[in-house]
Amino acid sequence: MHSLRRWSVRHAAALHSWYGWFSRLAPLAAPLLRRLGTARAEKLVLPVERGAKGLMFDCQMCGQCVLSSTGMACPMNCAKQMRNGPCGGVRADGNCEVKPEMRCVWVEATDGAKRIAPDHRAHPTPLLPAIDHRRRGRSTWVDVVEGRSAPVFQPPVGERVTPEAEQSQFERRCTSGERVVTVEIAPPDSADPQPLLARAEIFRGLVDAMNITDGAGGNCHMSSVAASAILATRGFEPVYQIACRDRNRIAIQGDLLGAAALGVRNVLCLTGDDVSRGDHPQARPVFDLDAVSLLHVARTMCDRGEYLSGRKLDKAPDLFVGATVNPFVPPYLDRIANLEKKVAAGARFIQTQFCFDLRAFDEFMREVRARGLHRRAHLIVGVGTLASAKALRWMANNVPGVAIPEEVLARIEAAPDQKAEAKAVCIETIRAVTAIEGVAGVHLMGHRNEQVLAQIIVESGLREPPAGADRASRPA
Ligand code: SF4
Repeated sequence: MHSLRRWSVRHAAALHSWYGWFSRLAPLAAPLLRRLGTARAEKLVLPVERGAKGLMFDCQMCGQCVLSSTGMACPMNCAKQMRNGPCGGVRADGNCEVKPEMRCVWVEATDGAKRIAPDHRAHPTPLLPAIDHRRRGRSTWVDVVEGRSAPVFQPPVGERVTPEAEQSQFERRCTSGERVVTVEIAPPDSADPQPLLARAEIFRGLVDAMNITDGAGGNCHMSSVAASAILATRGFEPVYQIACRDRNRIAIQGDLLGAAALGVRNVLCLTGDDVSRGDHPQARPVFDLDAVSLLHVARTMCDRGEYLSGRKLDKAPDLFVGATVNPFVPPYLDRIANLEKKVAAGARFIQTQFCFDLRAFDEFMREVRARGLHRRAHLIVGVGTLASAKALRWMANNVPGVAIPEEVLARIEAAPDQKAEAKAVCIETIRAVTAIEGVAGVHLMGHRNEQVLAQIIVESGLREPPAGADRASRPA
């Protein structure tokens, strides 16, 4: 089946022009369809459509076909059901994060889209909302005859701007033009908030906001909404990370309202890592939304004051909404189109995956500037370190979406003090990326490595040590 799927991508240009003819001629059959009745016509068409599209495209019959804009690769074969572009976990060889034996559907889609329109620089698909599961198994050909196409959502940007006095501290910092520093904090495996507060305390006065991960790596921890609310009540500035892996659109909208009611003002929309690498690999992944349709949900609630269903909210949440981008995995430069799409969908800040490859990042930023994306969203670069080359190599091999060039690993491996060398690489990276035009700041990550990250913030010159810093627990 995979080989036929790839044949269709290789012949995407011919299939696309055939489909163009089909969609132009199909409405001519509308009077016949009306005479038969839609239900009876669908009964006749469905087995033919299922057989033909199944054979040619490994089509999953979602009932909202976008094959003609995804380079003839059915996005419903994606293990996370991504409909708006690739996830950040694509492997270096272009294979799927979840099914390593399969080529990433979006790498194929990009390939097919380029065969259809080699110079096309925008994302191949329009802004697609969350899928309507009621339409699964239904015919799209009947829709084409009746002149209907897959639903598209409208970009919300420009509908509503938060007045400066009402912006979150993090948003104010981003819009001030001053360098932004954020840090990632993993919530504890505890019903006691103290370990969380102790981790946050290390960064008091050193960062503008603290990202609270949401079941990172598919592992169970205290909920990110609860951990974010705990930090907000203690005067910290949390960024609530919300992933599509564990909740459907009903739960996610409830959580967004709950977070806002508890004083959380910043949200990072993520698709999320698959469950297969986490501590509950037997769990069922949800992926009712992808990162782009999640942005649509969040901005619909904030800008229009309504649920995705259209039902009005009594009070709209006021959230500073962001998203992620990973320039370091395939389909490399095409990630720009994906970023552009997230910005169009309403992301006002962007945080990247770990940057260890300055050459790749520089190239990425050139295109970001060429498209003016750095003026439409605040771009914050992910940086970090671990204690040894072995730990970094493990991360590169086991954490989806992390790519570390061999020369960086070799440099750390050869050093007499690997921990110090890894730290030096991180500081050099910070200095290099913050000198690049269009970069708003850095986002520090490093599992349970808070003390070292705090030292890096000071030693790299990002921040002065806070007045009265306790030398035992703060950077030297
Ligand atoms: S790598 Fe990600 S986007 Fe690509 S097919 Fe796998 S889950 Fe989908």
